[in-house]
Amino acid sequence: MSEKFNVPSELPRYPRSMWRTVTTLPTFPELREDIKVDATVVGAGIAGVTTAYLLSLEGYKVALIDAGQILDGTTGYTTAKISAQHGLIYSEFLTNFRPEIAKGYYDANIEALRFIREMVETHGIDCDFKEETAYLFTNQEDKLDDLRKEFDAYQELGIPGQWHDSLPIPVAAKGAISMPGQAQFNPLKYLKFLVEKIVENGGLIYENTTIEDAKYGKPIEVYTLDKANTIFCNEMVVTSHYPFWNIQAGYFSRLSIERSYALAVKPETTFQGGMYLNIDDEKRSIRSAVFEGEEVLIVGGENHQPGKSDNTFDHYLALEKFAGETFGVREIPFRWSAQDITTLDKIPYIGPFSSDYPFVFIATGFNKWGMTNGTAAGLLLRDNILRRSNPYMDLFNPGRFNDKSMNQNIATSFKMAKELIAGKFAGAHEKIDNLEPDQGALVRHGGKKVGAYRDPEGKLFLVDTTCTHMGCETAWNEAERSWDCPCHGSRFSYSGDVLEGPATEPLKRVEE
Ligand SMILES: Cc1cc2nc3c(=O)[nH]c(=O)nc-3n(C[C@H](O)[C@H](O)[C@H](O)COP(=O)(O)OP(=O)(O)OC[C@H]3O[C@@H](n4cnc5c(N)ncnc54)[C@H](O)[C@@H]3O)c2cc1C
Repeated sequence: MSEKFNVPSELPRYPRSMWRTVTTLPTFPELREDIKVDATVVGAGIAGVTTAYLLSLEGYKVALIDAGQILDGTTGYTTAKISAQHGLIYSEFLTNFRPEIAKGYYDANIEALRFIREMVETHGIDCDFKEETAYLFTNQEDKLDDLRKEFDAYQELGIPGQWHDSLPIPVAAKGAISMPGQAQFNPLKYLKFLVEKIVENGGLIYENTTIEDAKYGKPIEVYTLDKANTIFCNEMVVTSHYPFWNIQAGYFSRLSIERSYALAVKPETTFQGGMYLNIDDEKRSIRSAVFEGEEVLIVGGENHQPGKSDNTFDHYLALEKFAGETFGVREIPFRWSAQDITTLDKIPYIGPFSSDYPFVFIATGFNKWGMTNGTAAGLLLRDNILRRSNPYMDLFNPGRFNDKSMNQNIATSFKMAKELIAGKFAGAHEKIDNLEPDQGALVRHGGKKVGAYRDPEGKLFLVDTTCTHMGCETAWNEAERSWDCPCHGSRFSYSGDVLEGPATEPLKRVEE
């Protein structure tokens, strides 16, 4: 029995991404001087690396900058299905938009899948790329109509797919749609190849370099923390997941965030292949992968707004229970969780940052489908920057506007205001002296509410839990030992360091 739980559990004590463990990535220096390049790409996840790679192929002098290590954002913690089957998306798009938009979204994602496949085949990239059929399914009677509507949308749009009354794996389903010819891979082994090519093509890559601000002009000035250094460039690309820059474009009220969870499981039974995702109240995702030459299953699901879960360990336990009941669990070598961003209408924002800044570009809001959407972003941003035509420019243009989106925009702003107020009145739950080793909580200290964590050796860390981004109250995330902000998803370590933006400044430390 794991020490952390009062139920039998094989869960590892600490989160660790399987992709990051099995892939040795190159390291890069911190930027410590002013430089001049053609294009600055801020954020080295799949979107930033693909964009920088494609620009470097076109002869652009590129600087790719990351606040931490490359590929240690959401891309390092994904489940890496490469698929155009994105839940109940096509029926929703057909309800909200013209059929060309729904079909365009599918085509752009299929082209991205084709691009990845061609890269792997042309360059012989060893990244466990494997073609698989994707299945979307439900075991809830009340969801069957929604699934049928999705299947109708496939037929209306000419998307290849088939209806099934059961699944090829031992998971109960009342209905399923298969989409053939999709794929899975180890995303970091694939992106490592692109990173190496960026360097070969003369690109500059910097790690541990947070970009805090930029000044629009000719050239654009991109500033590191406290304006310590400046990158002068003609074009800037914001691929920092949550945009680090919000100037006049209102992105903060147009994006919502969800955390979700994954386990790598050594199963007791044989897996019949395929990639699976349900649409049920308890979300479940399944695919296979290879770890130490052996097949493991990546079982994912359990979504919630960051900072909004009573005990984040419960999500891992729910996945462990599901995996045990379904496949049998011999061992769980890895557990990890991450968060992704969704736009108001579920179509990513890829293109010019705003009409006021035609030389700044953004890619965000991949709605948990960044392997294809992030790759599509690279292709589209390259064409934006080269001023080349691309059939998907209008579809993904961040400046698109409709009434429904505006209503949701107001709703998102309202939700944030509620978080700001609710957080300020949240009570402190624990007494500092009662904190066990490896436990964190809000406590009262010196008459104030502070965030506290006692490490396994007994050392106490106290922080002011006010998010340094926009002042919301962060909440303790027990499973990751972090302080998470419900408003815009910034995350901080127990000692206050920034783990994830948009915040760039650490939480204030509080004296003991
Ligand atoms: C649990 C989970 C499972 C998923 N499964 C799938 C799947 O099966 N298939 C699929 O297609 N998608 C999946 N997704 C979605 C996909 O992983 C993401 O959409 C994608 O990885 C996002 O890539 P990105 O490049 O936008 O961001 P990231 O990978 O987060 O990269 C952004 C980078 O920007 C850096 N950065 C941030 N701020 C700054 C700053 N101020 N200065 C410098 N650098 C900065 C960060 O350090 C980070 O490295 C999943 C997501 C989650 C959460």
